[in-house]
Amino acid sequence: MSSPYGQFFLPGPTEVHPEVLEAMTAPMIPHRGEAMSTLLEGMAKPLQHLFRTSRPVMIGSCSATGYMEMAVRSGVQHRVLSLVGGAFGARFAALAGACGREVMRLEVPLGGTIEPDMLRDALDRSEVDAVTMVHSETSTGALAPLEELAQVVHEHENVLLLVDAVTSLGGMPVESDAWKLDFVLTGSQKAMALPPGLALGVVSERMIERARTIPERGGYLDVVAHHEAAVNQQPTNTPAISLLFALARQLQRIDAAGGVEARWETHRTMFRRVHDWVAQKGSSLGVEFLPEADRRSWTVSCLRLPETLNGRTIAKQMADAGWVIGSGYGDLKTSTIRLGHMGDHTVEQVDHLLDVLGEILS
Ligand SMILES: *Cc1c(COP(=O)(O)O)cnc(C)c1O
Repeated sequence: MSSPYGQFFLPGPTEVHPEVLEAMTAPMIPHRGEAMSTLLEGMAKPLQHLFRTSRPVMIGSCSATGYMEMAVRSGVQHRVLSLVGGAFGARFAALAGACGREVMRLEVPLGGTIEPDMLRDALDRSEVDAVTMVHSETSTGALAPLEELAQVVHEHENVLLLVDAVTSLGGMPVESDAWKLDFVLTGSQKAMALPPGLALGVVSERMIERARTIPERGGYLDVVAHHEAAVNQQPTNTPAISLLFALARQLQRIDAAGGVEARWETHRTMFRRVHDWVAQKGSSLGVEFLPEADRRSWTVSCLRLPETLNGRTIAKQMADAGWVIGSGYGDLKTSTIRLGHMGDHTVEQVDHLLDVLGEILS
């Protein structure tokens, strides 16, 4: 089905602006040489701005899950505490297990978030050397109180905080330096509104030091190599060159539109529109947010449907009307729908989407 720009509201991949798609048609350049250095140098500052960091931002030619695996292999020595409130929190835990680490899961029901007291309690009871968590849990629309959780982690010595910020970074505040995040990662196809295929991340100095003491951290996704490459403004291997062209173009577009702060603001407004719509129309339609107030992502809204409706059917009816949205994820497949209001969508498009959704639900 053709999905003209503006009607593709999946919570990733999200719509890609034609100018960004166009940038990918440029001819190849050698991956070792001046053109590549110039390309990477040009992106260094804008990427730091995006991540709110003074450290170099790493670019990997893999999807975000690759950097989740990197976080585990290079950041966890023996035992990790994984915060799980949905599918991506569970994925982080599963990756740690698959990499041979001992995993303790701190779990809340779908749509819930781990709160600072729960985390403090868990860290006091069990000795771990790292914590994995998801900031914006795309499967439930729940937003973890990242700043507060980071403070709790930092009350414990030698515990690293590894953060999946895939649907938050670029769409709402993520303060890599100010919140002292040891590893923060995102992927290209969510709030950054690029095609899938790139992972971006920042690593703390203390995690680099730890990584050097972990012998089996792998090769392709070794954080030490990726960090050094970022420092030297070189790729590790042959990168996804066309996607780098797209990233460079998108960074220019973000800058021209007022920078990352303006982008956060747009996402907040899009979220407010969904929020107000649910508040005004929701009760009569039987629709409500899955997560609690104050714990809702600005980039993805997960709405619980009345029992008479099925999320897959609603998503199908929306698609027939020309609007792509997500049905629920995993166990929430039929009981919820998900609207991905992230990337380059506009507030007007969100309003239009909600009008169509209101018609289909009633
Ligand atoms: C999409 C997503 C991922 C995984 O991204 P891939 O690019 O498919 O590897 C991880 N975490 C969150 C929160 C996501 O939304």
